[in-house]
Amino acid sequence: MSIQYDLIVVGGGPAGLTAATYARRAGKSVLVLEKAAFGGQITWSPKVENFPGDVSVSGNELGDRFLEQAMSQGAEVELEEVTSVEKTAEGFHVIADSGTSYLSRTVILATGAKPRMLGLPREEEFIGNGISFCAVCDGAFYNGKAVAVYGGGNSALQDALLLSETCSKVYLIHRRGTFRGEAALVDALKARPNVTMLMETTIQSLQGEEELSSVLINCAGPEEVLPIDGLFVAIGHEPDLAAFAPLLSLDQAGYARSGEDCLTPTPGLFVAGDCRAKSVRQVTTAAADGSVAALAACSYLDAV
Ligand code: NAP
Repeated sequence: MSIQYDLIVVGGGPAGLTAATYARRAGKSVLVLEKAAFGGQITWSPKVENFPGDVSVSGNELGDRFLEQAMSQGAEVELEEVTSVEKTAEGFHVIADSGTSYLSRTVILATGAKPRMLGLPREEEFIGNGISFCAVCDGAFYNGKAVAVYGGGNSALQDALLLSETCSKVYLIHRRGTFRGEAALVDALKARPNVTMLMETTIQSLQGEEELSSVLINCAGPEEVLPIDGLFVAIGHEPDLAAFAPLLSLDQAGYARSGEDCLTPTPGLFVAGDCRAKSVRQVTTAAADGSVAALAACSYLDAV
């Protein structure tokens, strides 16, 4: 007979770890299951300068602090990929790809979002061979080389800034004439002599033998070949909730609808963070969701 937890949190990013901290402080037993690395997407940010109370901190360090805090409150954590969640009369069966089935009275899904792909031929082939989704992780492979960053949000701007410190040339390619990301980051990039912004430009195709060596771009005119050693794709994220869809109500983009209390249509099942349908996705709003979902789960546990 497996242990029954009060709460299982699926996903160990800012939302999930904040939820674990709050639920532990309310005296509930908590297990956090994370498939890859605790800390979530924020660990890919070289510098976070908008998390209250921290003037500037690396995303990695912030992620470590979320984990340390949840564990210091007594949350159990495991590296396990959850493949499904089933609700039965006993409670929620949370099934991992290792075959282990965990039992819990409530569940918070805080699975975040995965990087959006380009959707171009040969993309899969070039991932790890010139295409990367993480400048913090892979930037060092391109020291002294020419790279491109694709996207116009904060991730793309931050990636371009980081890469401009070590790469000989950084092309920032964006499909529109204005950036979605913060003006302060745009200004900082404009001051970098090795950065060229290619606005109203899209990537049409990927070229190279075994490694990516150029991209075909078009900028409202004839197509042009841009030789580069690496391409950092930062065109946003998409939720990854397909495995849990039977218990959720998903919007058109695949995000989980919930009430203000983060409750889904399934009693006892909550969502928090970037996988939740909402308008602002920041570390602050992920942490806020985590606390709201955890307190709502605690109320649910106390009521049943
Ligand atoms: P984002 O803000 O959604 O930006 C995605 C960018 O990619 C947009 O400029 C978008 O263009 C472009 N794009 C989307 N689909 C595309 C496609 N198929 N082809 C070409 N371009 C495409 O995503 P993000 O930069 O990953 O940021 C996600 C969230 O995290 C944001 O809220 C951001 O502020 C936040 N964030 C915060 C920090 C921090 O606080 N330190 C760091 C990084 C990210 P359009 O503009 O034309 O739509």
